[in-house]
Amino acid sequence: MHTGGTFGMVPMPPNQLLAPDEVASHILTHVPELEKLAHITVQCVFNLDSADIQIDHWQRLARMVAEHLDDYDGFVIIHGTDSMVYTAAALSFMLRNLPRPVILTGSQRPLAAIRTDARTNLINSVELATHSIPEVAIFFGTRLYRGNRTVKNSSIHYDAFQSPNYPPLAEVGIDVHVFDHHRRCQGGFQLREAISPAVLAVRYFPGLLPEYLEYVAGLPVKAVVLEALGLGHTAVKSQSLVPWIKGLREAGKLVVITSQSRHGRVDLSRYENGLRLRQAGAVGAGDMTTEAAIVKLMHLLGQGYDTPEILGRRLREDLAGEITTDHG
Ligand code: ASP
Repeated sequence: MHTGGTFGMVPMPPNQLLAPDEVASHILTHVPELEKLAHITVQCVFNLDSADIQIDHWQRLARMVAEHLDDYDGFVIIHGTDSMVYTAAALSFMLRNLPRPVILTGSQRPLAAIRTDARTNLINSVELATHSIPEVAIFFGTRLYRGNRTVKNSSIHYDAFQSPNYPPLAEVGIDVHVFDHHRRCQGGFQLREAISPAVLAVRYFPGLLPEYLEYVAGLPVKAVVLEALGLGHTAVKSQSLVPWIKGLREAGKLVVITSQSRHGRVDLSRYENGLRLRQAGAVGAGDMTTEAAIVKLMHLLGQGYDTPEILGRRLREDLAGEITTDHG
């Protein structure tokens, strides 16, 4: 098996970044077993704290995978944990009908540190990248998750990630178990690089004054993700957000409701508060994570879907397994 290590970043202690040409030898010195699992090529695309990732980094990674798609059986991307789920979501939308695994991994402790989790995460990722799992996934701890379903929920535990609304794609214990609910590649591969930054996210909380949000109408954003309560609720009586949502819709902007509750899905038909937001023009994001909804909107806007009606419709379609669409 050939695994293309498109290595984005190498976890090191703060302020000790390796030069790009040192990365491959550093990895293979610390984890020589990798070469027993696969024929590996290491490329350092960039090496920086993942909090500094921008749209053009996603595009560089996507292009790198697309250019080498036929040269390898799988790809592993080493990535800082902070923004890993955003990169995974972006790649899942950009690499349409992906025929091979692209697995992002990282660690909580640097590769050279005692008790590092980088070694095992990397070894397991490379092993899983030799399986037929045609998805952009995240491996961390003991599990492989669908990337666009994953959230980072710990900055201290080795099990730093979770997939609240979709089961793991594989589990590693004494044995490796690959489950069969991964995606199947249908149709020809396409690279869809264009991404728009015209998205804003706002977290609702009791006491939020709608007048603080008035500035949004004057921004060049085309979609606003409102992270609301429970099934997708905000105040609709005192300090109601209904006029704000209506105003944005009239200004040609879409408001998308996600939930601060990680498990479950947004349902704007169950309570009066949800119904009022929906009547004002807001659209629920179903069981998508807030992170996936933000990146999906950036992707869809990049593809030119920029009227609220079409954007709202496309948002609720399943592009890469990020949303469950059979709830009726
Ligand atoms: N701040 C780091 C990053 O996301 C944390 C880590 O290495 O996981 O790049």
